[in-house]
Amino acid sequence: EFVNMNKLMNHIIDRFEVVLQSEEYRYKNYRILRDITKRDLWVEIDQDKMTQVFDNIINNAIKYSPDGGRIIVRLMDTHSDLIVSISDEGLGIARKDIPHLFDRFYRVDKARSREMGGSGLGLAIAKEVTQLHGGKIWVTSSEDKGSTFYVSLPYVVFEEDGEWDEI
Ligand code: ATP
Ligand code: MG
Repeated sequence: EFVNMNKLMNHIIDRFEVVLQSEEYRYKNYRILRDITKRDLWVEIDQDKMTQVFDNIINNAIKYSPDGGRIIVRLMDTHSDLIVSISDEGLGIARKDIPHLFDRFYRVDKARSREMGGSGLGLAIAKEVTQLHGGKIWVTSSEDKGSTFYVSLPYVVFEEDGEWDEI
């Protein structure tokens, strides 16, 4: 189905903001900032599956950042792809862990991760789903400063006559 990523990302963040305003989270003072292009960017995706990808990355950003952390969600476009980036001010990820991060059941620092709950499958699923959509997922991180996760997807350009080309 054709989905406008601009709308979808705003919708996903709106839902997180409701949770972050709830009694359970409000005192923790997490903030999500948006830097989302106003352009309509159409992608042909399974909306539920890609929503799961962004949900996991944003959940991780909250889970692995201290209270008061800012999370920045960006939506940018190049001439062929759109790029979503999700940045946190959290623990960061050691260079040696980065190559394994998208493996099934891989969790950095087992003891700490166990406390947080989760299975270590989130990013493995995110990678599989993103690749099935012809996209890419990657991360840059600096320990103690935070991490940025990127997801790129090819977007669709509609022609005047309603035909479309993938570029
Ligand atoms: P699940 O998503 O299945 O509930 P999980 O969050 O532990 O469990 P993944 O989402 O696959 O699993 O993440 C794998 C590991 O990568 C995490 O356990 C954590 O150690 C590390 N990680 C993921 N995101 C971040 C982040 N934003 N900052 C620091 N570490 C992270
Ligand atoms: Mg996760």
